[in-house]
Amino acid sequence: MSSWLIETAVREAARQLVQNECDEWRCLEWDRARQYPKEVFDRIAALGWYGIGIPEEQGGSGGTASDLLVVAEELGRGSTDLVACFSLTASGLRTIVTHGSPEQKARLVPAIMNGDVRLSIAVTEPAAGSDAASLQTSARRTADGYVVNGQKTFCEAAGLPGTLIQLYARTDTSTTKQHGISMLLLDPATPGVTLRRLPTMGRNITGVYEVFLDQVELPAESLVGQENEGWRQLSAELPLERLIISAGFVGATLQVLEDTLRYVKEREQFGRPIGNFQAVAHLLVDLFTRAESTRLLVYRGGELADAGRPYEKEASMAKIASSELYADAARYCMQLHGGYAYIEEHPLTMHYADSVIATVAGGASQIQRNIVARQLGLKP
Ligand SMILES: Cc1cc2nc3c(=O)[nH]c(=O)nc-3n(C[C@H](O)[C@H](O)[C@H](O)COP(=O)(O)OP(=O)(O)OC[C@H]3O[C@@H](n4cnc5c(N)ncnc54)[C@H](O)[C@@H]3O)c2cc1C
Repeated sequence: MSSWLIETAVREAARQLVQNECDEWRCLEWDRARQYPKEVFDRIAALGWYGIGIPEEQGGSGGTASDLLVVAEELGRGSTDLVACFSLTASGLRTIVTHGSPEQKARLVPAIMNGDVRLSIAVTEPAAGSDAASLQTSARRTADGYVVNGQKTFCEAAGLPGTLIQLYARTDTSTTKQHGISMLLLDPATPGVTLRRLPTMGRNITGVYEVFLDQVELPAESLVGQENEGWRQLSAELPLERLIISAGFVGATLQVLEDTLRYVKEREQFGRPIGNFQAVAHLLVDLFTRAESTRLLVYRGGELADAGRPYEKEASMAKIASSELYADAARYCMQLHGGYAYIEEHPLTMHYADSVIATVAGGASQIQRNIVARQLGLKP
């Protein structure tokens, strides 16, 4: 089958899943109830979507990175929180496939693919946000493994069933900050680990958590890849994660714009549909234009990834453009709904709260601009 046909089939399946099981109205209910729809993620696992872009001989589902973006775009029509949760496991699985030991791959790849294990990532700390490489959580080597002490924050989805945390910790304090970091796999049920769910303004389906680590003993086999290579592993994982969440922001934006287009055609004031006022029409045209061009940028990143070419610059550009677009679209579409989308039963309230943080979570817009600037030969 041609890659175009596969992509079309994936899009159709993802669209069906969102329409039937997790559209924005359902997501709004889960968001309000702070409820995780495990059955949706079980379906995602059953459909093999976590393994898209990973060859079948390595335990994946085959297909391309672009196919993965298609799934994320469609899930974004439900909620960008669903996309973030999907992305953590899908991109984390790649790290295990690339850097995991034979034992880790044999144990974890099938368990992640069938939905028994899902992944979270713990990098951020109270004093290490944008400057993530300054993280201080320590993993001290012992005869049997590691003893971990420290605190992580904003660890998304850490409290969900079956979660395994990719924990980034300092294993060498004698070297430059990027070089002394390692990645360890942490079961949150390990003695010495405490989670606290943070009461956030949005993104309430999966939740973000503080993770407190007090004398946590981990076996040596928890290490993924080489000791002190964690930052390099993380840097390799992030561009794809940025593209996946960017695709989700595009899907969410299109959903918001299509909802609003329908509304402005129906809602009449001064004897005509409000969409026929030029000020309203032009605003929507500009947002649709940005959405289509941002979509092309996201898939350009996927195309480069699939061709094995560098795509870090495009991934950061896509993150900037898509997150800022989603935030603008939610804000302006609120305006075009007058008072009606301010009612908490309206999905725009969820999009509005989720879009505010889109320009921060996954790496703030300013930091993405620094990454792009460096790629342009500047030194921000
Ligand atoms: C909903 C949500 C989910 C998240 N999920 C995860 C997760 O799963 N795992 C994880 O590890 N982390 C996660 N994070 C953390 C996220 O990556 C950080 O919040 C983000 O990197 C910013 O760090 P900070 O909040 O400490 O802000 P700060 O780094 O303190 O930044 C504050 C402001 O200063 C600006 N700033 C900082 N440095 C510069 C600079 N050099 N130039 C210009 N401006 C600058 C920033 O852009 C920002 O506007 C999540 C956060 C949220 C809110």
